[in-house]
Parts: sequence; C-alpha cells; structure tokens
Amino acid sequence: MARVDAIVLGAGIVGTSVGLHLAKRGLAVALVDRRAPGEETSYGNAGVIEGNTIFPPAFPSDPVALLRVALKRSPEANYHLSFLPQVAPWLIAFHAASRPQRLMETVRVMRPLFARAVAEHETLLAEAGAARYLRKEGWLKVYRSDRAFRALKREFALAQEFGIPYRPLDVDAARALEPSLTPVFRHAVHWQGVASLTNPLAVTKAYAARFAALGGVVLSGNARSLRRTDEHWRVETADGPLDAGAAVVALGPFAPDVLGPLGIKLPLGIKRGYHRHYRGAGNAALSRPVVDTEIGYCLAPMEQGIRLTTGAEFAARDAAPTPVQFDRLLPAAKGLFPLGDPVDAVPWMGSRPCFPDSRPVIGRAPGQDGLWLAYGHAHWGLTLGPTTGRLLAEMMTGQTPFCDPAPYGAERFNR
Ligand SMILES: Cc1cc2nc3c(=O)[nH]c(=O)nc-3n(C[C@H](O)[C@H](O)[C@H](O)COP(=O)(O)OP(=O)(O)OC[C@H]3O[C@@H](n4cnc5c(N)ncnc54)[C@H](O)[C@@H]3O)c2cc1C
Repeated sequence: MARVDAIVLGAGIVGTSVGLHLAKRGLAVALVDRRAPGEETSYGNAGVIEGNTIFPPAFPSDPVALLRVALKRSPEANYHLSFLPQVAPWLIAFHAASRPQRLMETVRVMRPLFARAVAEHETLLAEAGAARYLRKEGWLKVYRSDRAFRALKREFALAQEFGIPYRPLDVDAARALEPSLTPVFRHAVHWQGVASLTNPLAVTKAYAARFAALGGVVLSGNARSLRRTDEHWRVETADGPLDAGAAVVALGPFAPDVLGPLGIKLPLGIKRGYHRHYRGAGNAALSRPVVDTEIGYCLAPMEQGIRLTTGAEFAARDAAPTPVQFDRLLPAAKGLFPLGDPVDAVPWMGSRPCFPDSRPVIGRAPGQDGLWLAYGHAHWGLTLGPTTGRLLAEMMTGQTPFCDPAPYGAERFNR
C-alpha cells in the first residue's frame, strides 16, 4: 500500500498551492485530480490578484437593480428559473450577510488574507520560475455614472485606513493609461497595488511542476473514492490505493460531492461565470484588466487574447451552459473597447464556489479526524490560493499561523 503524509484532493490553484506549501515544509504529499492541474475553475478566471478587495459583492439593495435581474435584463447576473427553489436558502443567507454590519465584519476578517495575496504569489512565482506571467500594472475600474463613483466614498476611506493605494482618475488620465478605451465612462479608479496574470492555467501548472520538483506526486484519481480506513484516509488512484494520515479537500465547487457522503454539509453556493477571448480590433490593446463596474464584466488581456469574463449566473453547477449574458453586455463592451472577432468557438464556463458570507473555509473538517478543508474562495480563488496554501500548511504542521484562522473555520455555520 502506497503511503504519504498528506493527500490533497483537487489540483486547482487552491489545492496545488496547499500541496506546494506542505511539500515546502518537508511533507510527502500526493496531489490527486481527475484532470491535469488547473484545468477547471482555475483556468478560466480573469487573472486578477485582487489584493485591493475591501467589500465583497452584496445582495442588491437598489430595487431597480433587483428588478432588472428578476426580469433577466441585467448583464451582471442571470438565473435559471427552475434552480430558484434550490438556491433560495443560500440567497436568504447571502441577503443576511449583506447587512452593513455583517459586511464590515467580512471586510475586517478577510483583510489579512487579501493583504498577503500579491506577495504570496510573488514568492511562489519566483520559486516556480514563472514570474514572466505576472503583471504589476494594477487594474482599472471605470464608472459610467457620477452616482456609482460617489458611492465609493466608504471604500476609499477604508482603503486609506488599510494602506491600499488607489488613484481616482478623470477620463483623460484613464485613457493615458489605456489609450484604446473609448470615453463612454465618466470616472475611473486605478488600484495600483493589484497584480494580474497573463495565463492563470500556466501559473497553476508551474506551481504543480514546482511541487513535483520538491518531491510531491501528481496522481490521477477520483476524489469521490475518499474513505476512512482504520487509521488513515484512503483514495483510489490510477496508480492504486493511496493512504495518508491527513487529507485535504480542495475541490472548489466540487467539494460537496465528496463531503456530502461524509456527512459534512456546509452552505456552499455556486455562481457560474463565463469567458470568451476576443482579438483587439486593429491595434487596440490593454495593459491591465479593466472592469466596467456598472455593467458587470471584466476585459482582461491574456496570452490567448482579450478575455471577457461575465458576472454571476445562478444555475445548477452541471446544467448546460446558457451564456446569454454575452448578448446583454457585448454592445456596452464593444462601446468601451474595440473588440474584434472571437478567438474561441464557444464561451468557457466555470463555477465560483461561494459561501453566503463570502469567506472561504480553511481549517479542520468538523467531526473527521485528519481531514482538512480549503474551498469556497468565490470570486477570489486565484487571488487567495497561495495565501490559503500557506495558512493551511502552517495549521497542519503546527506552525504559528500568519493570521488567526478562526474566522474561516467551518464551525462558524453551526453557531
Ligand atoms: C468567470 C470567472 C472569473 C474569475 N475571475 C477571478 C479573478 O480575476 N481573480 C480571482 O482571484 N478569482 C477569480 N475567479 C474565481 C476563481 O477562478 C476560483 O475561486 C478558483 O479558481 C477556485 O479554485 P479551486 O482550486 O478552489 O477550484 P478548481 O479550480 O475548480 O479546482 C478543483 C479541482 O478539483 C478537481 N475535481 C473535481 N471533482 C473531482 C473528483 N471527483 N475527483 C478528482 N478531482 C476532482 C477538478 O478537476 C479541479 O481541478 C473567477 C471565476 C470565474 C468563473
């Protein structure tokens, strides 16, 4: 029987980072996935390392915005009517977590993770020889209305308190940074400390290669085979059964497939999202990701082209793709930036794994000795993968964690 110190289930950016941090601390680790590293959700994101994030997305408080979503007119969000009864409890919990006081609590407990996000990636990128994928040009958020820009007051005050650099810009200053943008907006904010990746898939693969260079093994296997034997956790892999004293579930939106049968039922929801790559028309190009905040999409320059990513779709994880948001937002996107022909035949779809309080779960699994959890990173899995890897590895190896992990514990849902 093959045996390691720890099995990490899921080789997305989160699981790969956990495996790498454990291997850096001298543990014998196997990273098990049914696909090659980074090919699910961690492939398709906008590549932004959002260390500037202060407020998580909140349930819309503006009745007009809510009505637009309900009437399926909103480019920001879509839903499948048949899925509403299933997602209703999650939406009610999300609504409760969107109250001002709860949001402020989230802002403060998430700050230690966001504050380290860029630095933790920089360390791993350097060690993995992948620094060429890192772009330190910040990101630009554009605002079409004075009202939306004025609403940023509280965010700016907190950014100052936390020491997060930002620069409010007028249209000319924004176009000095991104000359291909059309002046259809009135304001912009340049968050200078934000970094981005030109190829998130290549980065996860580089972290997996670094993990292997440190002695870690990447194995093909089905995480659903995880079970407890006398003293160990066992998983079936293409190379045979594998035992370990510790197992980590880092399966992103797929975690409930494995945790449910073990009796661990945490309120994970799914926000599906899409991307499609486009060529820039003529010489049009971008130097950094640009967010059209009120319409709700991002244009991220990638090795593959300009990646247009959409907002949230509330639908069953495995239901067929319905990329209707592209039709709703493309006129606005083409108005902002001269998008040329699509590069991909069809849009890509992935599922953001989201807890209603917008925090991940990082720590011990309730009621299961030797089982650990690292999932539910919502809009920020790419951002927080390496930070999560470090925190969990510190907890698993008895080191002093760089921050208090209590706010990310699964126990919070039982209080
Ligand atoms: C459109 C879009 C844009 C985004 N933009 C950003 C952004 O700019 N910045 C940011 O920080 N985040 C962004 N995100 C969020 C981010 O991509 C996710 O939070 C992150 O990828 C989650 O990583 P993960 O490792 O937890 O999950 P995943 O990447 O999904 O990894 C889970 C792994 O588990 C494996 N797996 C599943 N089931 C099994 C099984 N039964 N057996 C074996 N293996 C299994 C899968 O193959 C997969 O490799 C975006 C998401 C979307 C959808």
